[in-house]
Amino acid sequence: MSTLGALKYPRLLVKISGEALMGRNGFGIDNVVVERLAGDLAEARRAGCALSVVVGGGNIFRGLQGTARGMDRATADYMGMLATVMNALALQSALEAAGAPARVLSAITMPTVCEPYVRHRALYHLDRERVVIFAAGTGNPFFTTDTAATLRAIEMGCDAVAKATQVDGVYSADPKKDPAAKRFDTLTYSEVLAKNLKVMDGAAIALARDNHIPVIVFSIDEPGNVNKLLQGTARATIIHG
Ligand code: UDP
Repeated sequence: MSTLGALKYPRLLVKISGEALMGRNGFGIDNVVVERLAGDLAEARRAGCALSVVVGGGNIFRGLQGTARGMDRATADYMGMLATVMNALALQSALEAAGAPARVLSAITMPTVCEPYVRHRALYHLDRERVVIFAAGTGNPFFTTDTAATLRAIEMGCDAVAKATQVDGVYSADPKKDPAAKRFDTLTYSEVLAKNLKVMDGAAIALARDNHIPVIVFSIDEPGNVNKLLQGTARATIIHG
């Protein structure tokens, strides 16, 4: 049953980093973790949210890892984007097992694996209450999946882009290393850029600022938190104008 009108963010894009999928393994995909995340996302879909997801690839390959080994950056970045497709397929499978129909749309076309990214196609799936998973980032090297998440959230007309992390918001320093780190409830885009806070890369924040879309940083480690976010009760940092 839909509770659309009651949600704080009826249309939301959740960005999940590749690292969130690897659990404690330190590499690759931990199916138990993916199932738990998919369960949370499926619950949000059932609550009536028109839900989009962008997943990263850092658990498998990052472009900068390749350049550190002597590869050219663009080629390494394409490998990073391909890694995100594997994660997207794992998430799609887990979402469908959790009873939430899902479609992967890739910015790098691979028609035997998933649909290509076509904006109207993505909107069509959202209208049919499917979770849309955007894979292969922006399709361009020299970008990140944070920028892809912000871009797709704007294209889908989302109310916000929610970045899933392992902590409950943005801190002045890493709270796991610095006990004096200060947590922010709200920040402006300019503060994030000026203080160089490690939230999203500068391109993603600037894109959010220019298009007036709020960025929410919340913890995905706490089960059920996506739904709490939709209800407006999750502890999170909100970045806006
Ligand atoms: N990437 C890219 N263009 C994009 C998105 C991603 O080239 O639009 C590449 C880049 O090499 C990046 C990798 O894909 O390191 C994985 O994405 P990201 O590092 O954003 O994943 P996350 O940190 O969220 O797991």
